[in-house]
Amino acid sequence: MYQTLLLDADGTLFDFDAAERRAFEKTCGAMGLAYTEGFYRRYQAANAACWRKYEKGEITKPQLQYDRFAALVDFSDPAAANEAYVGFLARGSQLMPESVPVLTALKAMTPARKCCIITNGIDRVQRQRLRDSAIAPLIDGIVTSEEAGAVKPAAGFFEYAFRKLGLTEKGDALVVGDSMITDIAGGANYGLDTCLVDYEGSYGGEAPRPTHVIRRLTDLLALV
Ligand SMILES: [Mg+2]
Repeated sequence: MYQTLLLDADGTLFDFDAAERRAFEKTCGAMGLAYTEGFYRRYQAANAACWRKYEKGEITKPQLQYDRFAALVDFSDPAAANEAYVGFLARGSQLMPESVPVLTALKAMTPARKCCIITNGIDRVQRQRLRDSAIAPLIDGIVTSEEAGAVKPAAGFFEYAFRKLGLTEKGDALVVGDSMITDIAGGANYGLDTCLVDYEGSYGGEAPRPTHVIRRLTDLLALV
């Protein structure tokens, strides 16, 4: 039914929570700071606030990367902390448990189907994580917000992805992701069918209604 799957990376195919936590722990070590669970939670809050500003177009990606460490006064050199963090993060390619079996099955069912990644993540980080991961041979393309010059959910991001991947028919593509804002609203606004991957079971019927809602990645096999 869908010839192209446009798959979000973090929180959908990649276990970003695990990768971030480990990268932050290593960054603390590199910067001579003690890692604690509370410290990590403070970083998560600062980082999330910066990403929200970035997704609204209020700050640039370099600003986001600096601000999230500057917000934590513990880091005397936020730029160096971010540089270390991004390096560690780029080496963290932990996947969700069902990513390999599901992508393998999708390819086996319909070899001509394209499985592509669409992500707001940092270009160098996302490409390296994909290259190092077991799903690399199963992915046909990757589009990042940095190269697109636009951020999901903006229509410009999806326009760029369509151009880059050589897609023409909106009805042939399905956006698959865990974010109601960037993936579901973004895809729907561009006129695409969407599939919410609701691992937590937290979806309560809010608008825009996804075309499909799944609780496990394996449920995708029944939709395509
Ligand atoms: Mg995501």
